[in-house]
Amino acid sequence: MKYTPREIVDEVNVTPVHPLVNFGYLIGTVVLAAVALYVGLGVAGAQIAARMGPQAESKLGEVIFENVFSAMPLTTEGPDYEYLATLAESLKSDALEQRPELKLHILAEPLPNAMVSAGGYVYVTQGLLDDAQSENELAFVLAHELGHYEHRDNLRSLGRSLVFLSLNTAFAASGVQLPPFLTGSIGLADLHYSREQEQRADVYALEIMHDRYGHVDHALDFFERLNEEELDLGAANQFLEWQSTHPLTESRIEHLEELAAQRGWAVEGAPTALPNQ
Ligand SMILES: [Zn+2]
Repeated sequence: MKYTPREIVDEVNVTPVHPLVNFGYLIGTVVLAAVALYVGLGVAGAQIAARMGPQAESKLGEVIFENVFSAMPLTTEGPDYEYLATLAESLKSDALEQRPELKLHILAEPLPNAMVSAGGYVYVTQGLLDDAQSENELAFVLAHELGHYEHRDNLRSLGRSLVFLSLNTAFAASGVQLPPFLTGSIGLADLHYSREQEQRADVYALEIMHDRYGHVDHALDFFERLNEEELDLGAANQFLEWQSTHPLTESRIEHLEELAAQRGWAVEGAPTALPNQ
């Protein structure tokens, strides 16, 4: 028997407009909803970063540490560690007293680098310790990271992921395994701060240097040495990792020299020796 479709009658289920126009509206609505969700997540992430309390930040820090950093070759003992932990404590601003306490780790990694992660986790590579020639330059790099910590730059850099990370830590008591797509983007070389964030962290660090040593001399030795080695020896590759997180420019050094001049800080003074020197 042959099927003969009935003539479509004019009723509510049949639209008067062309089906492609309808399809266009449908796609348009989906795209708009996706854009709204994307923007909304960005706004929510920024709000969480700016307002997260110390308890929530500690929990988030633990989860990120367990999922991302705990598998790395880390040290939290020995004379180098004790010295560095004490030094880091002495570089905290008053505002940082309200935040989760510092949890320092030395990372067995030859490239000089340092970073701070949510909840006060501070990582310093063995390469940075080996390369440092005075306490002043080591203290400056550490204080710069504490500047990022005080300004919550590390939380902000998590962006939209922060919404999901926060939900994750809020709902799960312990032993949470984050989906890899969330943790895969968090790593030593993958933090990207804006130029403004870098400058503010530098200002924090230089203020601390002045408070601690009474002058800001030798604070920038590490950066200046990197600059020279990069220019003279073409050793840029060796420092790529640091470069990706902390782009090193003449203008950055000039900016700090101007700041010292503006504030009337002494730019000459004796370096403070490292304990093993
Ligand atoms: Zn930085």
